[in-house]
Amino acid sequence: MDPITEQDIRSSFINCSKGAAKRLPVPRDLDELPWDDLDFLGWSDPAAPGRCYLVVPGDDGPVGVALRHQTAGSRRAQMCTFCSTTHSGGGVWLMSAPKAGEAGRRGNSVGTYICSDLDCSLYVRRKKAPVLGRPFRDDFDPAQRIAQLRENVNAFVARVSD
Ligand SMILES: [Zn+2]
Repeated sequence: MDPITEQDIRSSFINCSKGAAKRLPVPRDLDELPWDDLDFLGWSDPAAPGRCYLVVPGDDGPVGVALRHQTAGSRRAQMCTFCSTTHSGGGVWLMSAPKAGEAGRRGNSVGTYICSDLDCSLYVRRKKAPVLGRPFRDDFDPAQRIAQLRENVNAFVARVSD
């Protein structure tokens, strides 16, 4: 994805209030991130366990989604629905996003299982391997995995904004 600024990030959120988007912690190392290797930007709030965020490039600019998760992940091996990486030992969390607009204010949310470090972009490029879990298979095709990851993330964002 193309590099984005703190201002881009703060104005991109579709499922939290303007006030919350102004206060939420943005990664400090934006200048040093490997943007060429990222299909989306994902990070967690170090001061508030259970909260994390992702920003996805869209046709009309970046789209940000605020997420919540249970802080204790499952011990069982689980597969990320974004990048299909299997982790065990709590490396995948069930994350939920309040829906955008009125539906979200009524308490509706969308949930899915995602890598707890939100490094899906690095897993599909084989730049990072799961600490615990299955090693990459020989038939692993990064180009195909990248395309699939983008499709899955966009489908998730569409469900949140729907
Ligand atoms: Zn993942």
